[in-house]
Amino acid sequence: MPGEFEAIGDVVTGGLLARAIEPNAGEAGADGHTHERNCLNCGMALTGAFCSACGQKAHIHRSVRAFFHDFLAGMLNFEGKIWRTLPMLAWRPGEMTRRYIAGERARFISPVALYLFTVFAMFAVLNFTGTLGSNGKHIRGGVMQEGLKTGLAEDQKQLAKLEVERKAALAKGKSVADIDRRIAGEKADMADIQKVMNGGTFASVQVDKETPSWIRPFAENVAKDPDLVSMKVQDAASKYSWLLIPLSVPFMWLLFPFRRRYNTYDHAVFVTYSLSFMMMLVITGSLLVAAGLSGWAGLLFFVPPFHMYRHLKQSYELGRFSAIMRTMALVTFAFIAVALFAAATVAIGAM
Ligand SMILES: [Zn+2]
Repeated sequence: MPGEFEAIGDVVTGGLLARAIEPNAGEAGADGHTHERNCLNCGMALTGAFCSACGQKAHIHRSVRAFFHDFLAGMLNFEGKIWRTLPMLAWRPGEMTRRYIAGERARFISPVALYLFTVFAMFAVLNFTGTLGSNGKHIRGGVMQEGLKTGLAEDQKQLAKLEVERKAALAKGKSVADIDRRIAGEKADMADIQKVMNGGTFASVQVDKETPSWIRPFAENVAKDPDLVSMKVQDAASKYSWLLIPLSVPFMWLLFPFRRRYNTYDHAVFVTYSLSFMMMLVITGSLLVAAGLSGWAGLLFFVPPFHMYRHLKQSYELGRFSAIMRTMALVTFAFIAVALFAAATVAIGAM
């Protein structure tokens, strides 16, 4: 009888019927071992150690040992690949992108997996180091405090310069009304920064008749509960982080309008690896700041254009000049894409 069913040739039906005839098929024995004539995943008749249709192992185990084996194999597989992928992404991003596109898919972490992993790691690190500020009212430590300190020092310098200008103007008998106005502005800025450093919120959002009507509902929400809005913005940013990929791909079409050799798949791989690298920079930067090394973190601002240049040059096999031109365009595009994304998430958060 089983021969007849094999002759049907319909893979799925064959498997189902085989299972119906042999009720024990697919159930493990006392030793947790299975002995199969058909693939347990898709029903195809087995000829070797692996299913020729779907690739699943012919013999599977159903034991605690097998579970740990799967767990360990998964970890080691990921770990093996990630230590091959990360150094390549940092130093030879274009070579990796080209090899991935050309077909070495199993060797590296796929762009999408790397991207999702990095988004997850980035939000975990940013929350852990307090970079995002766990809520709007208490911006603790991290990048934010460093930024505020720098801002305050900058304002102080500016104020001292204005005081000198004012003295000089007075000595010459010139009007100081304009300088006085700028001094008042600096002082107001410094008072705002100090208020935030002491655990306050930024100059509170006020909704009055000057507020444009389209922005009023958003502004009211921010004024009412800045913590909730900040949480919703973070939530939206992580939930819709994948949007950065489709937002960036059209820019790549613009960068390579006449290069038929490179298609949308290639651009998507390039963009996704590139964005993953930039998020890793954010992770590195906030860890450096958290460790009190903000000077080193500042240097990271120079890395993206350099990385983009090398990534573009190697991925698309460009000459130095066209790589520089395209890097300049890409840096501009990146700012636009990030600004669009930020505007969208803030809008969603304040809705
Ligand atoms: Zn199968």
